[in-house]
Amino acid sequence: MASDKVSAEYGSLVFTDADMQERLPKPTYKELKRTIDEGEPIDLDIANEVAHAMKEWALEHGATHFTHWFQPLTGITSEKHDAFISPRGDGTVLMTFSGKELVQGEPDASSFPNGGLRATFEARGYTVWDPISPAFIKDEVLCIPTAFISYTGEALDKKTPLLRSEVVVEKQAKRVLKLFGNEPSRVLVTTGLEQEYFLIKEDDYQARPDLILCGRTLFGCEPAKGQELEEHYFGAIRPSVNAFMKEVDDELWKLAIPARTKHNEVAPCQHELAPVFEQSTRAIDNNLLTMEKLKLMATHYGLACLEHEKPFEYVNGSGKHDNWSISADGENLLEPGDDPQENLQFLVVLSCLIAAVDEHADLLRAAVASAGNDHRLGANEAPPAVISIFLGDDLAAVVSGLINHTEIASHDREEIDLGVPQLPNLFRDSTDRNRTSPFAFTGNKFEFRMVGSQQNVSDANMVLNAAVAEQFDRFANDLENVPEDEFVKQTLHWIRRTLREHQRVVFEGNGYSDEWEREAEERGLQNNKTTPDALPCMVTRKNIDFLDKYGVLTEAETQARYAAAAEQYAKLLNIEANTMVAMVRNLYVPALSQYSGDLATSVATKAEIGIVSATEKDLVRSLTEGIEAISSSANELEEKNVAARQIEDLKQRDDAYRDEILPAMAELRSHVDDMERVCGKDYWPVPSYNDMLFYV
Ligand code: ADP
Ligand code: MG
Repeated sequence: MASDKVSAEYGSLVFTDADMQERLPKPTYKELKRTIDEGEPIDLDIANEVAHAMKEWALEHGATHFTHWFQPLTGITSEKHDAFISPRGDGTVLMTFSGKELVQGEPDASSFPNGGLRATFEARGYTVWDPISPAFIKDEVLCIPTAFISYTGEALDKKTPLLRSEVVVEKQAKRVLKLFGNEPSRVLVTTGLEQEYFLIKEDDYQARPDLILCGRTLFGCEPAKGQELEEHYFGAIRPSVNAFMKEVDDELWKLAIPARTKHNEVAPCQHELAPVFEQSTRAIDNNLLTMEKLKLMATHYGLACLEHEKPFEYVNGSGKHDNWSISADGENLLEPGDDPQENLQFLVVLSCLIAAVDEHADLLRAAVASAGNDHRLGANEAPPAVISIFLGDDLAAVVSGLINHTEIASHDREEIDLGVPQLPNLFRDSTDRNRTSPFAFTGNKFEFRMVGSQQNVSDANMVLNAAVAEQFDRFANDLENVPEDEFVKQTLHWIRRTLREHQRVVFEGNGYSDEWEREAEERGLQNNKTTPDALPCMVTRKNIDFLDKYGVLTEAETQARYAAAAEQYAKLLNIEANTMVAMVRNLYVPALSQYSGDLATSVATKAEIGIVSATEKDLVRSLTEGIEAISSSANELEEKNVAARQIEDLKQRDDAYRDEILPAMAELRSHVDDMERVCGKDYWPVPSYNDMLFYV
């Protein structure tokens, strides 16, 4: 897009606040804003007016259909298109869209994962308009962001609990801020999501059933070259990729998605796109849209976009850095202020965050647990499975100063001596980064780095928001009745106590080291290395009660989410195992038998004229042995998979997939990869790592 067009086209496919203001009568617009800001249910008359304006706008922008756009427990987005048409009976049509159609839809919930919730209630589900996220047009379809709930109101999606967690964190934050004399009208969580992905040639992608079915390669021997030359990170972007990135930017900008930074990542063919942060639910909606656009646009350039956490062994996997902060009327609460009072408030927010992460590290870990992410976490390219917080030298010094300091020099709010260096400017420009930390303070926000590239960040942010709300709640309860002249002293006392109680979660060292694993264990931090280890904490009494208390998930909803996630793990591995077996029988074994057969013919033909080819003969032998090893491993994997699939108990089934199926898959892969190293290239049935990772 030409630079002069960017500002004109930006947001042109979004029904923005400005569009609403322009097209709606003033009182209607005001009423709608009230609904959005205060979460009030919308009046049907208002909905009708909004629907009409939205439809007119959509028709002017070429839309013919509308859809409720939602995020079921698969984490990806769902849509069902309905045309605006209403036949008039005389061969003509009217284009209509009612308030009822805007506000509520009724998709059949039975074909979405529901973790058993549907069994207890009715199959019907409702999609309910989420007016916080604006409607937009995608492929001539007006998309209305919605929440997805069951007939009886249980959340069947990723968004509903996230919205609930935002309500509670706002409410509790306001109580805290009030104690500091601040009464903002809105407190919002802000999120910036850095998306990593791979781009390979579409032809290569189409030739690999494992990529098509599972999103990752299940076979492939180590390429001659990996990422060891460190030449890809920030390297010049290849022209086809650059053209792709430009189109992506144009598309995203039209959708008012503030895509800003793009660069090559560490692994060959790996790239990153980062937008400017936004209000959290919107940032997540926009991330999902971005992921969809990346996949679609790639095909315009003969490329395929891989969003899996680990498409290739031997090189880095992909994550999604979740930059999290909270702001009051636009003022970032994780930004140290210019005066002592603001700094005290900053330290309260910081302490609450540290306590929140420490107390609910298990849930945070569970929120990013998936079969895909298991390949990445703890693999010396991504944070370890132990959750710790990195503060950076300066802030760590402030925290340990607070923990160890007992004297308070002044009780006057205007001249508080925190016993530590003045905070302003101290770490605002601090650039020290610890890439090995899962949860790092980066100047004025925290960066949660455990989220997998294809995951929906809603789960992680829901846990974070609720956990922070809980600490805010505690602070407010403890301090609300403290006399004014005691406030500073008591607040400092509270901060110190909280930091002291939770200092075990703060770790400034190398998160990749073995010593850290040992030390973390001594500190009593959990180290849930795999998804089957991580998920069960979702249904401990403590965690069920916590989410229920803050109105984020009822017990039934939590149980359902656990069941859905646990089922998902086994289902994914079952698909991977099936894919491996099929690839072996349909592709690898036939190829190897062809190659060894041709070689055997050559050996025999040569023998007839008195030439002995020892090398070829040895090769025929090892190829034949390879075929045997591959076939028997495939049979074994298949048998074990049949057995694992039949296990009723969710936890036992997941454990079996981890303990039986994953090792059997690794065994099978190693035999195939051994053969790839010796098989003639023309015979090998799929593109190799060398082909896929290094293309021109
Ligand atoms: P990197 O981590 O790669 O150095 P940046 O520092 O540029 O990247 O920021 C990464 C992301 O953090 C961007 O999406 C940015 O908009 C976002 N970000 C910056 N400030 C905030 C904030 N207050 N709340 C949430 N996200 C933020
Ligand atoms: Mg980052």
